[in-house]
Amino acid sequence: MLALRIRFFGVQTAASLFSSSSSSSSSLSLHRSTPYLFNLSYWKPFSCSSSSVEQNPSIHVVSGPKSTKAAVPETVKFVKRALFVPPGVQPEEVTEDMILPGSNIVLGPYAGHAQIKQVEFVKSSSKPKDCPKDDRPEFAIVGRSNVGKSSLINALVRKKEVALTSKKPGKTQLINHFLVNRSWYIVDLPGYGFANAPESARTDWSSFTKGYFLNRETLVAVLLLIDASIPAQKIDLDCANWLGRNNIPLTFVFTKCDKTKGGRGTRPDENIKDFQEVIVKNYPQPPPWIMTSSVTGLGRDDLLLHMSQLRNYWDN
Ligand code: GDP
Repeated sequence: MLALRIRFFGVQTAASLFSSSSSSSSSLSLHRSTPYLFNLSYWKPFSCSSSSVEQNPSIHVVSGPKSTKAAVPETVKFVKRALFVPPGVQPEEVTEDMILPGSNIVLGPYAGHAQIKQVEFVKSSSKPKDCPKDDRPEFAIVGRSNVGKSSLINALVRKKEVALTSKKPGKTQLINHFLVNRSWYIVDLPGYGFANAPESARTDWSSFTKGYFLNRETLVAVLLLIDASIPAQKIDLDCANWLGRNNIPLTFVFTKCDKTKGGRGTRPDENIKDFQEVIVKNYPQPPPWIMTSSVTGLGRDDLLLHMSQLRNYWDN
């Protein structure tokens, strides 16, 4: 059986991302005209680890705190306009109850195995080539420093202080692998955009992490974390553009969505809407995105469902 893998090929006309001149505080306006092309290519079903594959896939709704539709009313219309329809679902078949709350993600028939029952730290690698070589699929989690990455990873695995990434610029940059349910990895990558980082640290991040993205065969998708409590940042879109241009699947994970008022007086839903408007202009097909809060648990179970359906379509 063939499955579809969403791939996107970008054509970037704006300045290259992660350049040493990137400023985390710049607005996004420079990138509003960046054109992107998406393409769908056929994918074999995921097959390298039978424990990761649902044998009889069905829509699987996990128990626990569920995000409420009341929490995200202003984004609902937008979600309807730009849905991420996963492999196995015909767009015309999509109904309201198939859309994960606070996201544009349609739940397909192959979602499953969303519960995290066990997690173990495997290793920290200082070079992409030192990462585990066992062919299990993995999700890389990346975002600007202070975006809430450690909090999200800890919330996902329901453990305190699992995430180990060094927060200080200039310190050794490490790729941390956590094995989930003995079948797939969460990968904690160093944060980018340290406000006071020396240029050398920013350049290190760039070459180090780019090397991982470009060479990691087992990467299913990047979860690109975006702080919803502050207005959209140029460096985040730079990162998204680079991933798109290099055909690396990504999901936007908006963090801190519990905050009622964010920086500069804007609310998370307003910031997300602004960010989406830029993304819509840059991407003919919308990448998946989801609202989360590590404080309230918003989006946690839904993000795991989304990851499960991506994982089940993954094929190395
Ligand atoms: P990291 O540098 O990306 O790993 O960010 P952290 O996880 O350390 O979080 C940075 C700051 O944001 C900390 O003060 C967290 O308590 C706070 N934070 C993280 N996630 C959330 C969230 O979902 N909601 C709120 N209100 N604060 C958060």
